[in-house]
Amino acid sequence: MPITVEHVTHFLTAAAELIHAHRDELTALDAAIGDADHGANLDRGFAAVIARLPTVADKDIGTVLKTTGMTIVSTVGGASGPLYGTAFVRAGMALADRHEMSAEDVVLALEAALDGIVARGKAQPGEKTMVDALVPAIEALRAALAEGRSLTRAMQAAAAAAAAGAQATIPMLAMKGRASYLGERSIGHQDPGATSTAYLLQALAMTCSRNEEEA
Ligand code: ADP
Ligand code: MG
Repeated sequence: MPITVEHVTHFLTAAAELIHAHRDELTALDAAIGDADHGANLDRGFAAVIARLPTVADKDIGTVLKTTGMTIVSTVGGASGPLYGTAFVRAGMALADRHEMSAEDVVLALEAALDGIVARGKAQPGEKTMVDALVPAIEALRAALAEGRSLTRAMQAAAAAAAAGAQATIPMLAMKGRASYLGERSIGHQDPGATSTAYLLQALAMTCSRNEEEA
C-alpha cells in the first residue's frame, strides 16, 4: 500500500501529540544544558503545524512537508526552529509534487532532512545534537530495508536506533549550540534535540504500523 498525504498528516498529528506529551521532559532536559525552552518551543511549533494542516490536506506530500517546515521556522525559534524547519522543507523538496511514496522515498526524505540539518547547523555525529539520533535512525532504516524487512519493521528499528542514539548523547561533550557554552558540564545529560528527534521517529513508526494494519 503506497504512502499518501493522509499518512503524512497522520504522522504530523502523532508527532504533535508525542511532543505535547513529552513537553515537560524535553524542557527539563533543556533546563540542564540549555535555556529550558525546547519542549515549549516544539509544542508551540507543532500545534501551529496541526492548525495549518486543513489548508494543505488536499495538496501533494511535498507541499504539506514544505508548509510544515515554514510553519516550524516561523513559530519555534531558537536553534531547533531553523534546524527542524529546514529538515521538513528539504524533505518536502525531495518529494515535490508527489501524491504517493515508497519505502525508498521515505529513506530519501529522511536523508534530505539530515542534509538540511547538517547544511544549516554544521554538526557532525558525536557532537551531542539531534544529528546523533537521526544518523543512526537512517542507518537502521536502510539496513532493515536491505534485509527485506517491511517498512513498518524497518521504521520500528529506526525509532529504536534514534532512541538509543539520544541516550548515547549522555556522555558526549556538547560541541554545538547553547549546550556547548557549558563545556565539560554538558557531559552527563541527554541532549534535548536528539530526544525530540527520537520522538519524531517514533511518530513515523506509529504511522507505518497503522498503515500496515489497514493494508
Ligand atoms: P536553543 O538552544 O536556541 O534554546 P532549542 O532549545 O529549541 O534551541 O534546541 C536545542 C537543541 O538544538 C539541542 O539540544 C540540539 O540537539 C539542537 N542543536 C543546537 N545546535 C545545533 C546544531 N548546530 N546542529 C544540530 N542540532 C543543533
Ligand atoms: Mg533551548
